[in-house]
Parts: sequence; structure tokens; C-alpha cells
Amino acid sequence: MPEDREQSETSPAPLPHCLIAGAGIGGLAAALFIADAGWRVTICDREPVLQEVGAGLQLAPNASRLLADIGILDDLDDIAVEPAAIQIWRGEDGKAMSRAELGRKAATRFGAPFIVVHRADLQNALLKRAETHPAIELRLGLRLADIRENDTAIAALFEGADGAEIRLEADLLVGADGLWSRARTLAGLPAPTRYSGKTAWRTLIPREEAPLFAREADVNLWMGPDAHLVHYPVCGGREINVVAIIEDEWREEGWSAPGSPDILASHFRGWSRKARDLIGAADHWKRWALVDRAPEGRWSRARMTLLGDAAHPMMPFLAQGASQAIEDAAALAALLRPPGAGSTGLAQTLRRYDALRIPRTARIQKEARRQGSLYHLDGIKARLRDSALQLLPGDTLLHRFSWVFDHDARRPDA
Ligand SMILES: Cc1cc2nc3c(=O)[nH]c(=O)nc-3n(C[C@H](O)[C@H](O)[C@H](O)COP(=O)(O)OP(=O)(O)OC[C@H]3O[C@@H](n4cnc5c(N)ncnc54)[C@H](O)[C@@H]3O)c2cc1C
Repeated sequence: MPEDREQSETSPAPLPHCLIAGAGIGGLAAALFIADAGWRVTICDREPVLQEVGAGLQLAPNASRLLADIGILDDLDDIAVEPAAIQIWRGEDGKAMSRAELGRKAATRFGAPFIVVHRADLQNALLKRAETHPAIELRLGLRLADIRENDTAIAALFEGADGAEIRLEADLLVGADGLWSRARTLAGLPAPTRYSGKTAWRTLIPREEAPLFAREADVNLWMGPDAHLVHYPVCGGREINVVAIIEDEWREEGWSAPGSPDILASHFRGWSRKARDLIGAADHWKRWALVDRAPEGRWSRARMTLLGDAAHPMMPFLAQGASQAIEDAAALAALLRPPGAGSTGLAQTLRRYDALRIPRTARIQKEARRQGSLYHLDGIKARLRDSALQLLPGDTLLHRFSWVFDHDARRPDA
């Protein structure tokens, strides 16, 4: 028997190769899940350095149970905060509207905790695991520009920082390149962006500079006409994350445009003292325009698919943006195990992924939009909402969303 034949019979088949464009929360989570499912993964991001950008993210049990699987929940132990409750307040007079217990009670009920975390802390934890994973290669400073696809492979063309074109081949390409996804355009998906007429403003206030009431380990939601406010501690409680959402027609791309504290304060002029004190405690704000897209009928082609904001950008009012990206990652990896990179097998797997994930994320996109309009009601409608909130036990309110929190994305039959 010729030597090379003998070798090919004894050496293991090469692992199928997955290429991921975008090393945000969804892309890094996908790299870890897919590598654990037996694939070799190359993950590329356009940024030369993954900077510490962003502020708070909420991770509900539907995401934290998945992060536990890849060791990330343990890594976040000292830096994530497990809030004791979600509290809802009326903006104009600071009156308590509702309180739902989280903490141990919710962790027991849903089988995994609610946590809040700085986006950079989560991204760093994922990044550290990815950097040391033997089946993952991370390449920074590469911007996805184009694709070439045939029956047996897909090639992605990336632009390097110096303008050089770099071609990488794989069995599967995953577009995890966020809200303004290039991969999505390359996949030929038509839904245009929908500006909401709202902007989100974020800041971090060092704990010792925040008003006392804001230092508690709770998630707080303040509702008022045309605006709402969310705050909770992050970074092990050392910083208070504050996000203010206002009605505003400003619409530029990006996550970090500076915003004037005076303009923001003017939107909260008629609000309670506490809310104004919190807004006034920060002298620097970053803002971004809130954008989503209508749900699509498909995300995948034969050897390419999407996840996270690239697939289903959503309003942040259910706090599920990062959690759904993590669910996508776990669901896709569960379907890719055992690896089946043959074109028919893979195309079928991706169709199954679309069939599982599109209805769920579309429902969450729709519900997130609905929540946003409830938060900003005015007049009689606001009074009716508040009365309903005061009548309904907080825990009942939380359990209305058990279809979101109970979901286990690793189970294709879930
Ligand atoms: C800089 C930044 C700050 C954010 N801050 C907040 C925040 O404060 N609060 C909040 O709730 N949400 C924030 N988000 C959004 C939040 O992270 C996402 O909604 C959610 O985590 C879903 O993640 P994702 O992986 O789908 O997308 P993202 O987390 O947006 O990650 C997308 C990644 O793709 C990369 N990328 C984009 N285009 C290309 C390309 N052509 N080729 C290669 N790589 C590309 C980007 O650099 C980025 O790393 C922020 C996102 C970003 C990128």
C-alpha cells in the first residue's frame, strides 16, 4: 500500500472550518460554542484592538445558562452583579409602581441567574477563553468586504488595515458583524433599517459619585412621557450604568457619539428630584440611535448564516440584544454537532437553524418594540398602565416573560 494512502487511513479527518466575521458578544460566543462542537474556528474583527466600548448589558437566565456551559459565568463571578430585584418607578413623582424579586428566588425559578455586566467585561471574558482555545484563531484588523461561494467551500474577502485584501476559505461563514452588518448585505437580505425616533444615552457613574438610591444592587426602570431611564450597578458594583432613552430624530451610525448633558437634562426637566439628580451626576454621555429591522424570512444561504444584531437587530426594551446573540450561538453550535460540512448536510442544518431561531427572535423583536411604546405613554394611557402595574404582583409581571427566560437554545426541540 502506498505510504500516503496508509497515512490518510490512519490520520484523523481535518476538522471542518468555520469562519466568523465579527468578534462582538455574539461572534465570540459562537466561536466558543462551535469550537466545542468539534469545528476549527477563525474569528475576525475589523477593529485592530477590541476596545473597552459600551456600558451595561443585562443577561437573563436564557443567556446565563448558556454562558455557564462555556465557563464564562464563573469567569464573571467577581465582575457581574446579580440584582436583587427589578423596580419600576414613575418618572414624574418617583412613586414605586412595581417590584419583582430576582436574586436567588428567580435563579431557582428559572434555573439560572439574572445578571448585569459591563459589555467590555463580558467581551473580555469571552475573548480570554477564545484566545486560549486550541481550535480558535483570532484575527483582528480584518474587515469583511465580500464573499465567493461554491459547492464545496465559501471564501470571504477581508480588507486589512493597510488596505491589503485577504482571502480566507471555510466550510461555513457566520456573519456576526452587528447592527450595520456587511455580511447581511452580502447574504442579500432586504429589510432596511427602521429608525425608532428614539436615542439611547449611556454613562457610567463611579459608585461613590452616584446618588445613594442608585447604588443598590437592583435593576431600576423609570417611566415618563417620551422618555425612560434604566440604571443598575456593573463592574462588581464599582460603577453605576445609566441609560436614558428619549424621543429624538438624531440618526447617525455608531455606538459612541458624544451627547450634551444639558440637552439630556432638558428632556427630564419635569421629572422627580431623584431622577434629575441621577442624570445630573454624570458630565459625559455617549449616545446611539435606536434602530431595528423587520424580521426576515431567512438568514442563511448554502454555506453562510448570520447571528446576533446582524440577523435580528432589536429595540433594547426587553434587554435581550446580547442574550439573543448568545442563544443564536448556542443553537447554531448544537445543530453543527456532529460536524457535517458536506454541502447538502450543511445547507439543511442552516435551514433548521433559520426555522428554529427566526420565529423566536421575531417574537422578541416585536415584544421589545411594544414595551418601548408602553414605557413612554402619557396622560390617561399612562395612568391606566400605572394602575395595572400597581395591581399586578411584580412576580406575576416577571412570569409573563417566562417564555423568554425559560428557553434553552441548546435543545433543538425547545
Ligand atoms: C462598540 C459597541 C458598543 C456597544 N455598547 C452597548 C451598550 O452600551 N449597551 C448595549 O445594550 N449594547 C451595546 N452594544 C450592542 C450589543 O453589544 C449588541 O446589541 C449585542 O451584544 C449583540 O451582539 P453582536 O455580537 O450581534 O453585535 P456587536 O456586539 O455589535 O458586535 C459586532 C462586531 O462586529 C464587528 N464588525 C462590524 N463590521 C465588521 C466587518 N465588516 N468585518 C469584521 N468585523 C466587523 C464590530 O467591530 C463588532 O466587534 C454595543 C455594540 C458595540 C459594537
